[in-house]
Amino acid sequence: MWKAGKREAKCFQSGIVSRFPAFHILDPSVVSTASSPIALSIVIPVYNEELNLPVLFARLYPVLDALGRTYEIIFTNDGSADRSITLLRAQHAARPEVTRVIDFNANYGQHMAIMAAFERVQGEVIVTLDADLQNPPEEIPKLLGKIDAGHDYVGGYRVDRQDSIFRTVASRLINYAREHTTNIRMTDQGCMLRAYRRPIIDAIVQSGAINTFIPALAYSFAGHPAEVGVRHEERHAGASNYSLYRLIRLNFDLITGFSLAPLQYFTMFAMACSAGSFLLVLILAGRRIFVGPEEGGLFTLFGILFFLISVTMVGIGLIGEYIGRTYQVVRARQRYHVREILERR
Ligand code: UDP
Ligand code: MG
Repeated sequence: MWKAGKREAKCFQSGIVSRFPAFHILDPSVVSTASSPIALSIVIPVYNEELNLPVLFARLYPVLDALGRTYEIIFTNDGSADRSITLLRAQHAARPEVTRVIDFNANYGQHMAIMAAFERVQGEVIVTLDADLQNPPEEIPKLLGKIDAGHDYVGGYRVDRQDSIFRTVASRLINYAREHTTNIRMTDQGCMLRAYRRPIIDAIVQSGAINTFIPALAYSFAGHPAEVGVRHEERHAGASNYSLYRLIRLNFDLITGFSLAPLQYFTMFAMACSAGSFLLVLILAGRRIFVGPEEGGLFTLFGILFFLISVTMVGIGLIGEYIGRTYQVVRARQRYHVREILERR
């Protein structure tokens, strides 16, 4: 268990509701790998999903009840501004034996919400799922089948994806960039319907990653990964929480978090530009000596100069991305703050 765990556990025994900040100094030697009485943990991040939660509850619990395995569902309320937390509270009251709720004080993003749940899961097998019903809960047994067949990481890929053309095309581009810059191989990185064996989750928790992309991080720890096609539905209600800006940020996390290739490609490109510029200088110097002073070509020079300046700016931005992430790791500030945890022990 992580260090604050003991303190929390004591308080859970004394009451259903406890209030604690999250501490994130992990001691790798004490992360639990002991056999747990719970077979399955379902992890669901929730951000402004009041319209989807009632349908999710109605579809998810029967699927899990029918499995005949012990299970728990951990919802992380990621700073929702709507009634999501009220609905989660009611659900916890209705099914306290299998429902746990982590309530963040603010919005820290989907992957941090999943991370907070990972730090507290008790199951031997962990499944992540979106709250908006784009990942049908009825597909969970499919993933479990693969896990039972001996795989430690089972990624879903969306068959017949139900998203806008823009999202689908953007995903393809990012898939391509990831394939060529990292050694992470997966068909559909955006699909959050995934199953993991416990040791992978323990490794993710120990990594203490900040700006991360969980499916990719998990893949890097997997020994025997597999993939399975899963149905994809349209968002049941509401709109995606990802604006273009947030999508770009998330995909920066994916690429910069797993590879230095962008920096290396940039350096190679800068070297090619330098060689070209050097050649240009030689040509211009030769003309100055053999042809004499010339006025023509000024705008061409400007064109070349502006191009090189813009390339330099991209390079500085790129370096900044890495430095910013390094800074966040070095600063070691707590990554999220838990306002409250609802669970029964
Ligand atoms: N989510 C979250 N925090 C955020 C954004 C999203 O917990 O800041 C949750 C959201 O409630 C949903 C899942 O992450 O359960 C996927 O989000 P969304 O459906 O908006 O993403 P999309 O399917 O469009 O990629
Ligand atoms: Mg969605």
